Amino acid sequence: MSLEVSEIFFSLNGEGLLMGVPTLFVRLSGCNLRCTWCDTTYAWDPGRSLSVDQIKNQVLEKDNGHCQWALLTGGEPLIQDVRPLVDALKPHYKIAIETNGSLYREVLHDMDFISADIKPPSSGNPTTEYGTLTKIIDAITERSGQLKAIIASREDYAFIRALTRECDITVPLVLQPCWGSVTYDFLCNLYLESPLPVESIRILTQLHKIGNIK
Ligand code: SF4
Repeated sequence: MSLEVSEIFFSLNGEGLLMGVPTLFVRLSGCNLRCTWCDTTYAWDPGRSLSVDQIKNQVLEKDNGHCQWALLTGGEPLIQDVRPLVDALKPHYKIAIETNGSLYREVLHDMDFISADIKPPSSGNPTTEYGTLTKIIDAITERSGQLKAIIASREDYAFIRALTRECDITVPLVLQPCWGSVTYDFLCNLYLESPLPVESIRILTQLHKIGNIK
């Protein structure tokens, strides 16, 4: 069993509720979307084909001995069969996944933390498939995690507001400004002018961009 891998590295989680947590990143190659503001376009390219054992060994080599979390990210990790990798890493780490929210897979129920995107119009791939979103929300409810939306404009914020009326967002929702398009101030003021009807909401930014780390 092998997977296409873009890179494996140790850093701090830069986004959402696990922000600042030391994390071993496994970035898998390929994505089924092409977001206009994607900041990991290099992950669209074919990666190195590595066996699950090779990936696990590289993760263990990069561990400082105190890391509790491994994060499967991309690209879109769910376009590959990640279950064997999850099984291999589980004895060593808590497993998180970052997914673009367009795909539902049973393996989500094996995760310790799920971060799933809601895509706004500025991405070029707005979230309209509420059936998939509802299943992902159910998986987050069962396990743990967050929905995450990048906001690049007032239109994006209005889109997320409309979505919160259509879907019952019962899990944490993280809003982040689109880096390079709008500021954190802009997003905070949007929220303060017109709060979204979501109980568990966080208005955050991307720590790895501020800290200039990977
Ligand atoms: S889903 Fe993520 S990795 Fe894929 S194109 Fe969009 S931002 Fe990039």
